[in-house]
Amino acid sequence: MPELNMYIDGQWLGARSGSKRQILNPANGEIIAIAAEGGREDARLAILSARRAFDSAVWSEVSPAERAKLLYLVADLLEEHAEEIALLETKNMGKPLRESRFDVADAAACFRYYAGLITKPMGQVYNVADPVQGLVVREPVGVCGLIVPWNYPLLMSVWKIAPALAAGNSIVLKPSELTPVTAVRLFRIFEDAGIPQGVANLVLGTGPEVGQELAESELVDLIAFTGGTATGRTIMKAAAGNMKNISLELGGKSPNIVFADADFETAVDYALFAIFANQGQVCAAGSRLLLEESIHDRFVERLVERARQIRIGSGDEEGTEMGPLVSAGHMEKVLHYIELGKREGARLVLGGQRLKLKGLENGYFVEPTIFTDTTPEMSIVRDEIFGPVLAIQTFKDEPDAIRVANDSVYGLAAGVFTNDNAKALRVVKKLRAGITWINTFHNTYNEAPWGGYKQSGIGRALGTFGLDAYTEIKQININL
Ligand code: NAD
Repeated sequence: MPELNMYIDGQWLGARSGSKRQILNPANGEIIAIAAEGGREDARLAILSARRAFDSAVWSEVSPAERAKLLYLVADLLEEHAEEIALLETKNMGKPLRESRFDVADAAACFRYYAGLITKPMGQVYNVADPVQGLVVREPVGVCGLIVPWNYPLLMSVWKIAPALAAGNSIVLKPSELTPVTAVRLFRIFEDAGIPQGVANLVLGTGPEVGQELAESELVDLIAFTGGTATGRTIMKAAAGNMKNISLELGGKSPNIVFADADFETAVDYALFAIFANQGQVCAAGSRLLLEESIHDRFVERLVERARQIRIGSGDEEGTEMGPLVSAGHMEKVLHYIELGKREGARLVLGGQRLKLKGLENGYFVEPTIFTDTTPEMSIVRDEIFGPVLAIQTFKDEPDAIRVANDSVYGLAAGVFTNDNAKALRVVKKLRAGITWINTFHNTYNEAPWGGYKQSGIGRALGTFGLDAYTEIKQININL
C-alpha cells in the first residue's frame, strides 16, 4: 500500500503524532493509500521552514528569470508524467480520466503562464513635484498558507502555488484530507526540479487542525483559501489576529440563462455540461438553469432525454462521462438535498437516487438529477449542493431574467444563451458575478481573472490580477 508523507523543510516526514488516514477510491470504496495525518505541530514546523527559507532569500531574492527557469522545469515534469498523474487524480477523486488529463495539462500551463509573467516588465513610475521621482514595485508577501479543496485537487493547488512561487514567496500547502495524492506527487516534482529547501512545504491533515494553524499563525503573511463559504468565514476570523492578507475563492449557485432565441441544441449541450461536469462538484457549476417561459417544456424534455444518455462509471474507464461523488459523506449530503427538494414541493423529472453499478456497488454514485417547478425560497435553489442536481427556474423577459439570476447570496459565475449579442452584453453587465460566459460555459483561462462577487469570495486568481494576492506593493520616492 503506498504511503503518503508530508514534505517539510526538504524532507519527507510522517506526522509527529504518528496519525494516519486511509485514502479511498470513491468509485469502489477501496483503500488506495495511507496518508500521514499531520496536526498543528507539523503545521508549525512547516511554517517555520517556510519562514526561514523566505528570510534567507534563497528564493525571494533570486532573479525572476532564475525562478522562472525552475517553474518551467516543473511544467515540463508535469507533462512528462501527465498520464500517471491524471490516473492518480481520477483514482483519488473520482472524476473521469479525460477531465483529469485536462487538469494536468492546465496545471502545467499555469506554471508556464506565471513563469513567463514574472519576467515581464512590471510596476509604475509616477511624476510628482521636482526633484522627487516615484517608483512603484511589487515584492513577495512572505510566507503563504494555501488551503485547497478536493474537487480539483491538483489544479486548485497549482492556481495558488504558481503565482506564489513565481512572485518569490515561500509556501505551505494543505490539500483536502480526502485528496492528498496528486499534491504529494507534485511535491516530488518540486524536489526533482530543485526548488530550494524550505521554499515549498506540504502538510497533510484536516482543516480544523492544520488549516486552522495556518490561518492563525503570526508567522504566516497571507492565507489563500479555496473552499466553502462557511469555512471561508472561519478562516477570515482566524486570520484577523495578525491582519494577514487574504484571498478567498468560495462557493456559488450560478445561474445559466437561456433565452428563447438561443440556438436550442447548443444551449442544451452546455446546460448539461454546466451542471454535470465533475459530477456537479464545480464551484462555478450552472446549478440553476433559468429558462424563458416559452421554451420551458420543450427544453426540459430534451434535457432529460440527453441526460439519460450520460455514461456513468468508474472515472478510469475510457468513455465514462460522469464518475462518483468524492466521498460517502458528500454523497449523503447531496442525497439529503434531493430529499429536501422533493419535500419542499419541487418536481423531480430525472434521477434522484444513489446508483449501485455492477462491480462498483460500494462506489458513491448519484444519478444526474433534475428538478422543475421550483420556487425561489427552496433549499435546492438557494444552497450550494455541489453535486449533480439541477434546479430549473423560469423567467418572463430580460429584466425578470436578471432579477432571478441575481437573487442569490453568491456571485461567482453566470451563463447567458441568446442569438442577440446586444442583449447578451446588456444582461451580462447587470449580473453580479465575477465570471460570465455568453453562448458557452466553464471556459477557464490562465490569462483571465477568476473569482466572485458577494459571498463567493474576495480577490481574484489567475491572470495578471492573480499576482495581486501574492505581492505587496511598495512606493519608492527618490529625492534627485
Ligand atoms: P471546505 O471548505 O470544506 O474545505 C476546503 C479546505 O479547507 C480543505 O482543505 C479543508 O480541510 C479546509 N478547512 C476546513 N475547515 C477549515 C478550518 N476551520 N480552517 C482552515 N481550513 C479548513 O470545502 P470542500 O468541501 O473541500 O470544497 C467544496 C467547496 O469549495 C465548495 O463550496 C466550492 O464552491 C468551493 N470551491 C470554490 C472554488 C472557487 O474558485 N471559487 C473552486 C473550487 C471549490
